[in-house]
Amino acid sequence: MIRLSLKPSEARIWSDIETLSKITNPERPWTRRPFTALYEEGRAWLKQEMATLGLEVYQDAASNVIGRLAGSKPELSPIMVGSHTDTVTGGGRFDGIAGVVVGLELVRMLKEADIQLDHPLEIVDFTAEEPTDFGVSTVGSRGMVGNLSEDMRNSRDPEGRVLIDCIAEAGGNPARIDQEARKQGSVAAYLELHIEQGPVLVETSRPLGVVTGIVGISRYQVTVIGQPDHAGTTPMTMRRDALPAAGELFVELETICRKAYSSPVVGTVGVVNVNPNAANVVPGEVTFKFEVRSIDAALIAEVCEHYLERARALVENRGLSIRIEALTRSEPVTVPEHIRSALALACRETLGSDSLYAELPSGAGHDGNQLSRIAPIGMLFVPSLGGRSHCPEEWTDIQPIAQGAEALARAIIHLDKNVV
Ligand SMILES: [Zn+2]
Repeated sequence: MIRLSLKPSEARIWSDIETLSKITNPERPWTRRPFTALYEEGRAWLKQEMATLGLEVYQDAASNVIGRLAGSKPELSPIMVGSHTDTVTGGGRFDGIAGVVVGLELVRMLKEADIQLDHPLEIVDFTAEEPTDFGVSTVGSRGMVGNLSEDMRNSRDPEGRVLIDCIAEAGGNPARIDQEARKQGSVAAYLELHIEQGPVLVETSRPLGVVTGIVGISRYQVTVIGQPDHAGTTPMTMRRDALPAAGELFVELETICRKAYSSPVVGTVGVVNVNPNAANVVPGEVTFKFEVRSIDAALIAEVCEHYLERARALVENRGLSIRIEALTRSEPVTVPEHIRSALALACRETLGSDSLYAELPSGAGHDGNQLSRIAPIGMLFVPSLGGRSHCPEEWTDIQPIAQGAEALARAIIHLDKNVV
């Protein structure tokens, strides 16, 4: 038990969230897209706040905004805490923002408790975490770890702007992104507080959630091939209708993913195209995409393989054919045991009971996916009312955000003595 008086201020955190909420598009609450004047204005405020707190403020080559608090052992790699201040269009006031303003509160809490860490502490606002109009997401964290490819850098948005030009305008130095990329071991630990964006914490009445890992995702495209025929003249027994076959495949994915596995698995069908898509023609061909997510890579592979085997059998049973293409695959990120246990201990110390925090995977990607390439990462979730996110209704009460700030501070103090 760390007997420290670490007192997060709900009022200060709330005031910071309110300030950023006001720097949004009034016609499309609460939008603050990256590489816009509003984004710059929000970051100008953030840099000012960081400077007021006595942090050394700078922007790296990828234009991430960083506030650095010196440690007593400057030779140590920094402990990093970050999130993002950009939003999706029509997004909320908490996604990303909660993590950044909690970073500011951490610094205030440490100062008020008169604690100097051994490690430097870096508070980061990662550039453009959400999907951008350039077709790239987690732009800043990719740049920070040297994972922003040439193609990504030169991608254009619908207005014809090139991504690296926008990074330069946002205060970065694209020519130096690779030289400045942080190497494995150059960050002692990366921690992020984020809203859950799902219903688990609210449904189970837990104010905090320790993230066990970030899910990997496998995506496929499936084409079911039948035969288009006249909808009036072709008897039911003589059809080669691709749509009911596809329907069976949709239900089958749900059935397989609803089974109990060693880790949770979710599977989703989307982007369904019916051809021809007419009321008076038997559908000849249906294409759809599906994805499977879990924090267990082997389990994703097993579930996909089993599903595709079942899909082939179901389609063949109907005398139709099937084409399967693998689209993309991202690996799950594991939260290392020492980070997870530091966060769990910190939650117990903050909440005063073992039963009040949850352990759960992150079903969405974050900057942590990129940081995990060079550093051990950990995440703390706070509840999203109704599980809602990426919408104007997105809401998290201030109390769990403040509790999250305290837990994060405790975890950092613990890790400061236990990581190099
Ligand atoms: Zn986010």
